[in-house]
Amino acid sequence: MITEKILNSMIDIVGEEFVSTDPEDLYIYSYDMTEEPQGNPNAIVMPKTPEEIQQLLKIANEYKIPVIPYVAGANIGGLTVTHRGGMIVDLKRMRQILKFDAISKYVVLEPGVTFGHLKKFLLENHPDFIYSYAFAPPYTSVTTNALLEGLTEFSFRWGCMGDWITGLEVVLPTGEITRIGSCATSDHWNMKYPLPDMTGLFIGWQGMTGIVTKCAVKVVPKPPIRKLYGAVYSGLDVADEVFKKVANTDLIHGDFTFSWPTVLMMMGQKHPLREIRDDEPVMMTGLLIFANDKKDLKNKERQLSKIAQEASEKTNQNVQILPAELGAPKKILEYLDLPSNLPPFFEFRSGDKKGVGMSWLGTYTNPNNWKECYEKGYKIMEDHGFEPLIFVKNMDSGHFYVVRFLIPFNKAVPGEAEEVRKMLEELVDATLPLGSIPYKCPAWAAKKVKKVLDPAWLALARKIRDTLDPNHIMNPDRWAFLD
Ligand SMILES: Cc1cc2nc3c(=O)[nH]c(=O)nc-3n(C[C@H](O)[C@H](O)[C@H](O)COP(=O)(O)OP(=O)(O)OC[C@H]3O[C@@H](n4cnc5c(N)ncnc54)[C@H](O)[C@@H]3O)c2cc1C
Repeated sequence: MITEKILNSMIDIVGEEFVSTDPEDLYIYSYDMTEEPQGNPNAIVMPKTPEEIQQLLKIANEYKIPVIPYVAGANIGGLTVTHRGGMIVDLKRMRQILKFDAISKYVVLEPGVTFGHLKKFLLENHPDFIYSYAFAPPYTSVTTNALLEGLTEFSFRWGCMGDWITGLEVVLPTGEITRIGSCATSDHWNMKYPLPDMTGLFIGWQGMTGIVTKCAVKVVPKPPIRKLYGAVYSGLDVADEVFKKVANTDLIHGDFTFSWPTVLMMMGQKHPLREIRDDEPVMMTGLLIFANDKKDLKNKERQLSKIAQEASEKTNQNVQILPAELGAPKKILEYLDLPSNLPPFFEFRSGDKKGVGMSWLGTYTNPNNWKECYEKGYKIMEDHGFEPLIFVKNMDSGHFYVVRFLIPFNKAVPGEAEEVRKMLEELVDATLPLGSIPYKCPAWAAKKVKKVLDPAWLALARKIRDTLDPNHIMNPDRWAFLD
């Protein structure tokens, strides 16, 4: 597919050391940590500028070569695995932080800037500002996380990360470079209003509508006090009551809830996990409170206790809420200093690190149905012989929840990847009818989503793709319902 002539043109654009067709390099980029079968990229190219990307896309269009944008390939959805060959456009060399504006509170990043880079930059240069980090490893990209509508530390208060984008620069599939938002009129990247909001042409598209070369995201002032509390629940009903009640207050900025087996794993218990005793909690939530001063904090603590008491009374179940330093093991607190590497997740099933595999079904879920979604998933995971490692999150003050089924597995065990795929398919079949939509949606899951999609929505999505990418070169394996 990529002839010598095309390869030479690619080398002319980025330089010889930044193009590879070596089998060992192709191998590295041919798979990710999920159960997705190995793909078949033909070349890796590492551009440094939007203009280089522009030229690469012109060639890709001329010869109809698939183009797969890539930073760390750590999306957990098989989203950078190509089964149609093509060129992987690895953006790691584009790692400049281009602009910081403390007044309108945004930072402009190249796509290779990672959570680790951004945290270091803010700590060293603007310690009064913070970003909302994902539970993802520090080597993953801030831009791709926002483009994938990721969920992060403060999603309870401010929703998913697509909402933090205030401006974009994009190389379109046909090679034009365009800016979206107020940066289309001046060098101010602070808002996407009031022009027609075209950020949606690139958010959630998994790299099918262009390559983002600059991304402006909000930063927020560091609160004077930031304190973590832990809640443990004797049943799901009391948890539901607490979730709903806190979502109707302005008490919380961040939350993350783990099924009890997940807590045991994070505390260092090994696979296979022991049986859960009847007297153990079912779940634990970390609740993050921002406060202006001690008085404000005390007041918020009091309100939280009242919510706990009322929720227990209403449900006849029990919830205990304590400052994290009194209850949470040090290990868990370390993992929650984001971004962190979360080693126990990766190593849980594979121990010696050979064959480390990691997959999930993440769903953006209707709050009315989260419990059913959680319970169905819990059972499916147990039936397949996997520990029910489940993560729940209240998003955007209760407008939606995340229920994510986490599946560390061992690729070195014959048949385990196939079992994981079977289990994931069952999880989608069980949760889709509840209004739960897979995020970072893999291609196989997109085919299932198609069955419930409004045909008019699908027709519009196809029109948008055809207009932006007439030759369907951009990451063509993604969103398989578009084929
Ligand atoms: C242990 C673990 C925990 C995680 N926890 C979370 C979490 O809590 N919340 C969360 O949201 N995510 C989480 N993630 C997922 C993931 O790490 C992030 O969303 C992440 O930022 C993806 O970054 P990446 O650099 O690996 O992107 P990649 O996997 O390289 O790319 C992701 C997608 O974006 C496309 N793309 C890449 N660059 C561009 C570009 N410049 N323009 C257009 N499209 C592009 C790719 O083609 C692909 O479709 C987790 C991952 C792991 C491994």
